[in-house]
Amino acid sequence: MVMSVNEAFDIAEQKRARRKAKKRAAHKKWKAANKEKEAARMKDYYNNNKEACDARHKAWCDANPEKAKACKRAAHKAWCDANPEKAKACKRAAYKKWKAANPDYHKAYHAELRKIIFEHYDNKCSCPTCKSGPNIELEIDHIIPFAEGLHKHAPRSGHSLWLYIIKNECWNDFQILCKACNTRKHWNGGTCNCGVHSGKSKLLL
Ligand SMILES: [Zn+2]
Ligand SMILES: [Zn+2]
Repeated sequence: MVMSVNEAFDIAEQKRARRKAKKRAAHKKWKAANKEKEAARMKDYYNNNKEACDARHKAWCDANPEKAKACKRAAHKAWCDANPEKAKACKRAAYKKWKAANPDYHKAYHAELRKIIFEHYDNKCSCPTCKSGPNIELEIDHIIPFAEGLHKHAPRSGHSLWLYIIKNECWNDFQILCKACNTRKHWNGGTCNCGVHSGKSKLLL
């Protein structure tokens, strides 16, 4: 049987493709076995062709914005994981800068959180004898003290503690107390006793 020109061409083409694939596989194997050499080679290549490489990279990023974003995020995460202390400082600095640039937003956010928390607890001291509120200073109190384990790792106070309660929905493990009851509870080993010692009317508010 005589082969047509097209058939001969196809066969030659297939052979070329197979050779190419073989070469690629061999190169891949070599790369895997010689990671350091390959990295050095790539670095050399980059240093000698910086402009072209950067332009190619930029073109690829422009053409694949989603992938480029994911790529950057992954690289950022890897760096943060490798430099936890620096990453922490970096985050703190960024937050500080943001806070300074958005004072109103921060204030509003703070007020919003405060409202959610204090309204949940009726804006009143939870001590059954006292029940003062709403226009007094109220504090978040751990029904079971930190030291006894529950919510041991919760933030100690303020804004972060409010967020913690909202996120973890652990409303029943906390309460709000007025400053006087909270202090009394602290000094009386967990009970306020304000009705016993000072009487309702003499509450120090
Ligand atoms: Zn009270
Ligand atoms: Zn009390």
